[in-house]
Amino acid sequence: PGNDGKYLVTLVPGDGIGPEVSDAVKSIYKAADVPIKWEEVDVTPEIRDGRSRIPLKAEESIKKTTLALKGPLATPIGKGHVSLNLTLRRTFSLFANVRPCRSIEGYKTPYDNVDTVLIRENTEGEYSGIEHEIVDGVVQSIKLITLEASERVARYAFHHAQQNGRNRVTAVHKANIMKMSDGMFLHACRQVAKEYPDITYDEDLLDRACLRIVQDPSPYSDRVMVMPNLYGDILSDMCAGLIGGLGLTPSGNIGKDASIFEAVHGSAPDIAGKDMANPTALLLSSIMMLRHMGLFDKADQIESAIFKTIANGETTGDLGGKLGTKKFTEKIISRL
Ligand code: NAD
Repeated sequence: PGNDGKYLVTLVPGDGIGPEVSDAVKSIYKAADVPIKWEEVDVTPEIRDGRSRIPLKAEESIKKTTLALKGPLATPIGKGHVSLNLTLRRTFSLFANVRPCRSIEGYKTPYDNVDTVLIRENTEGEYSGIEHEIVDGVVQSIKLITLEASERVARYAFHHAQQNGRNRVTAVHKANIMKMSDGMFLHACRQVAKEYPDITYDEDLLDRACLRIVQDPSPYSDRVMVMPNLYGDILSDMCAGLIGGLGLTPSGNIGKDASIFEAVHGSAPDIAGKDMANPTALLLSSIMMLRHMGLFDKADQIESAIFKTIANGETTGDLGGKLGTKKFTEKIISRL
C-alpha cells in the first residue's frame, strides 16, 4: 500500500452496463472501507505505430498499479482493431486465466453443489494463431506447447490451490492422443508437483472430466483443475453453465507484469443505462482480486453480504427479482 495505507488499483469501467456495475463495486467498497484507491482509465483501443493498442494512459496505469478491475468492453466493429482482450493479454503477458464457478444459494439450477476452480493456460496451445494452407484444400494449424509456459501455469495452479485451501491439483489433458504436446504439459505439472508435497497431484482425461463433472460436480470442490488453452476455454464455459450461465461468473487473468480481473459477461447493450444490470459477476471478480492481494477479511465480508442478499431473494431481474442495480447494491451494503 501507499503512504495512506491504500492500494492503488486501475479501474476500467467499460462500455454498456460497465459504468453501472463498476459504480456498484465502488459504493460497496467505500461502505466496507476497503483500502483501495481507484485510478479510472478508458481502454478504447487506439491506433499507434500502425497497430491497434490500448491508450498509453491506460497502459501506464496498469503497469504502475499491476492490478486492474475491468468492466465489459463492446468489441469495436470495423477493420484495424484486434480483440481488446487479446491486446491486453499480450501487453501484460497474462498467462493464466482463473475461472471459479460456485453455486449461488437462492439461484436454483439443476445442480446446487458446484464449487469448481479451473485454470487455463492463456498464451499458446491451439490459440497460437499459427495456421497455413499447405496446398489447395489442406490447412494446417499448429498447436504450440512450451515447457516454460506449461511450468508457469502449473506453478500458478499449485500456488492458487495452496492460497485458497484446496488440497489437490488435477491436470486435465488428452496426452493419450496428443502424446508429445500434452505429454510435455503433464511433464511440467509433474515436475512442479514435487515442489508442493502438501498438495495431491493427479491427472484426468478431458472427456472423462466433462462426463464426471456433469454427472456429479461435488468431488471437484477440493481441487484446482489446470489445463492447456483450448480445453480450458471449453470446460470453463461448461462449468459456468452448471451454476446458471455466464452472468454470475467472475474471472481473473494472472500475468507476469499485471493481473486483470473481469466479469465473464459482455456489455449488455440491451439493458445499458436502465438500472437493470446485475453487478454480481464484477463484484465476485473484485473479490478474487482482493484474495489475490491478500485482503482475505474484506473479501469474505463482501462475499457473504452478496450471497445473503441473493439467498434472501433480493435480486435483480435476471435472477427473477424485482430490484434495480442501485437498490440491489444498497441491500448488499446493509448486510456488510
Ligand atoms: P452480453 O453478455 O453482453 O449479453 C448477453 C445477455 O445477457 C443480454 O441479454 C444481457 O442483457 C444479459 N446480461 C449480460 N450481463 C448481464 C448482467 N450483468 N446483468 C443482467 N443481464 C446481463 O453478450 P453480447 O450481447 O453477446 O455482447 C455484447 C457486447 O459485449 C459485444 O460487443 C461483445 O463483443 C462484448 N463482450 C465483451 C466481453 C468482455 O469485455 N469481456 C465479453 C463478452 C462480450
